[in-house]
Amino acid sequence: MSDTVTPVGGPPVGTPSAGTPSGSTPSGSTPSGSRGRRAGARESILDAIRLAEPLSRVELAAMTGLTEAAVSMTVRRLLDEGLVVETGRTPTAGKPRTLLRLDPAARLAVGIHLDEDVTTYVLTGQTGGIVSRMTRPAPTGTGDEVLDALVADVALLIDGSGVERVRCLGVGLVWPGPRGGRTTPRDAPPHLRGNHGDDLDQRLSAATGMPVLVENDATAAAVGEYWVARVGPAQAFAALYMGSGIGAGIVIDGVALRGARANAGEFGHLCVQVDGPECWCGGHGCLEALAGPAVVVAAALADPVAAAEAGLDTAGPRRSAAADFAAVARAARGGAPACLALIEGSARYVAAAAESVVNLLDIDLLVLTGPGFAAASFVYGPAITARIAAADARTWHRSVSVTVSLAAATASATGAAALVLQSSHRG
Ligand SMILES: [Zn+2]
Repeated sequence: MSDTVTPVGGPPVGTPSAGTPSGSTPSGSTPSGSRGRRAGARESILDAIRLAEPLSRVELAAMTGLTEAAVSMTVRRLLDEGLVVETGRTPTAGKPRTLLRLDPAARLAVGIHLDEDVTTYVLTGQTGGIVSRMTRPAPTGTGDEVLDALVADVALLIDGSGVERVRCLGVGLVWPGPRGGRTTPRDAPPHLRGNHGDDLDQRLSAATGMPVLVENDATAAAVGEYWVARVGPAQAFAALYMGSGIGAGIVIDGVALRGARANAGEFGHLCVQVDGPECWCGGHGCLEALAGPAVVVAAALADPVAAAEAGLDTAGPRRSAAADFAAVARAARGGAPACLALIEGSARYVAAAAESVVNLLDIDLLVLTGPGFAAASFVYGPAITARIAAADARTWHRSVSVTVSLAAATASATGAAALVLQSSHRG
């Protein structure tokens, strides 16, 4: 863990097409729900260039379905605004074509992921590359102390990167679980409880002078993975996320599925056992109540053999579920049989629920992300792949890809920044 600004040279990566500002609105953007929204010419062109730059105007017309006249007019505006630059010509049999790419530093955004143990900050340019990133232990206070910590860290991130503040369009702020906070887990750390829920974004906006957009961390992770993995809008994509709980983000036709109240993707509350144990949400038999990281940890603490394998201190003060889960996963990876059995038991349920998500939404690509899946992908990846591959071959005549994220630690923060940048492109 680092508490200093770390410049990161990142390659240009893919494109988001998701997110809705909540609270303040990034300047120049058009706040709108994403249900039924179709990308405009400007957004389509910027997305296409980000996905496959450099591109000529003719190639853009073919990729977006826009007329060449419409492409030329929109590109002229984007050149005037400095978002797009010309970058040489492509040799062709006929007239050479001028190639276009994004100026990565023309616009930037800050992404903040408030998680149980750690707060991750990234500063991202419009091509998706991370300019700077920073991690901090989760703030221990409440209310104004949390706000003060965020404001100081955002200033450090931007100033430490040498980026002009005026180029920063805003802040994307994400945390686990449902929006509104009333159903946040009762044992959540204070900074994640719902008491700041709906106004932390407004207070952060007032304190930083920048627009702030909020989202749940699993949806943001899906958008972050969508950038990093260069997933095209033709693919139906879901990111399954395991951190302190289990969630999912879904991107269909290049747009994050958000639902009526921005709570789409509550994968952890799919019922996998009708008469199962009570979940913190009040339901029974939820995936999270049978297979979530806290449940795996509780089972390990209750089993002296597993607790010893994982080095868990059963008498001392509890660390976070995510930290203890990582210890169980490390032991399992090292071959400890009791810990391995606990994670394999969890993976059976997660694989069944993942298959339901694929069936429900006709998903092409599943990415496993977040610290929990990163720690134990050696069990969850094969379990999910085997279950879905069997169904694909047996019944559905499809070929669903299951991959493990290469950027699990920063996907939510990157996605948070991407949502700000993407919303600004809708103007
Ligand atoms: Zn539940």
